[in-house]
Amino acid sequence: MNVSAGSPRRVGVFGGAFDPPHLAHTALALAVLEQLQLDELRVVPTGQAWHKSRSLTPAAHRLEMVRLAFGAMERVVVDPRETLRSGPSYTVDTLSELHAEFPLAQLFLIIGEDQAVALPTWHRWREIADFATICVAARAGFAGARGTFDALHQGLAPFQTIELPPMDVSATDIRERLATHQNIASLVFEPVARYIAHHHLYQTA
Ligand code: ATP
Repeated sequence: MNVSAGSPRRVGVFGGAFDPPHLAHTALALAVLEQLQLDELRVVPTGQAWHKSRSLTPAAHRLEMVRLAFGAMERVVVDPRETLRSGPSYTVDTLSELHAEFPLAQLFLIIGEDQAVALPTWHRWREIADFATICVAARAGFAGARGTFDALHQGLAPFQTIELPPMDVSATDIRERLATHQNIASLVFEPVARYIAHHHLYQTA
């Protein structure tokens, strides 16, 4: 597929709070680029999360950390649209916009198993499957959840599984480590760790 010859045909959409972005996020991005043969992967930091109980770090910081974590990866586009939108960030709105921008493209929504299980709670979730193939990556601690998900949504839409060795990394754990002055060097890219230190992020739990 020659991307330069026209608009991308296979576009992945990877959303998240990225508070902060970590090495499982980037491993997942590399896995989907290859396994789904994507022309482009859009990494889309959430603006206002409707589904997280805590308030997120300001979007400008998260966006900058996402640029540091993913910016150098080929075929990855950091897409700030949700951070610029007023009101809650709904994935269905983002997919609908991308569908309008790339009418010929096949869209792939990338989510971890924890989010797959929660999908029925998402805003207009049934429409999500009309816009995109839902691609689910295994997540440590959620063994068996994918089976539950399949059983729940049989017939809804084709799903694809992303092969990713379960990585026991989460932003929650990283924030907790930082608040208790533990090392996070093995969990995030060095420029992200530097950014966090420079801006004194995640000092309290
Ligand atoms: P938090 O711990 O704050 O909930 P998180 O580590 O889950 O954060 P998010 O930014 O919420 O990170 O995740 C973005 C997407 O990446 C979600 O679809 C999530 O399921 C997926 N993801 C995050 N960490 C992993 C992981 N270790 N393995 C597989 N998928 C993951």
